[in-house]
Amino acid sequence: MTNCIFCKIANKELKADIILEDEKVIVFKDINPKAPIHLLIIPKEHIASINDLELENQDLAGYMILIAKKIAKQMNFADKGYKLIFNVGRDGGQVVEHIHLHILSGGYTRSLAEI
Ligand code: AMP
Ligand code: ZN
Repeated sequence: MTNCIFCKIANKELKADIILEDEKVIVFKDINPKAPIHLLIIPKEHIASINDLELENQDLAGYMILIAKKIAKQMNFADKGYKLIFNVGRDGGQVVEHIHLHILSGGYTRSLAEI
């Protein structure tokens, strides 16, 4: 999508601190971290939110969770623990309308109400 910042990160029009990239997803550091480790997993395909997920996207949605686990193991915080969050819509605190999975870790992570 033309005016979507996460599509711009996916197609390298906008710089990001990329941790992992494959044919389906990109993982990068959140620019305004809410925990010592705060990463975002996005699909390269533009899907606005969980509300726009269709049955055909179920593999992609599951894949994003498996990528979170892979990153957690690679970065050595799988055992200590982490939070995975999808914000959905305005009342869910979603600001960027390109689906993204937050990974938060590194000691105490803020309560859901604060994020
Ligand atoms: P949400 O509130 O769920 O829509 O989360 C959007 C997240 O994207 C926020 O945590 C922002 O700090 C983060 N963010 C916004 N712009 C960028 C960017 N250019 N690079 C990295 N993270 C970003
Ligand atoms: Zn997008």
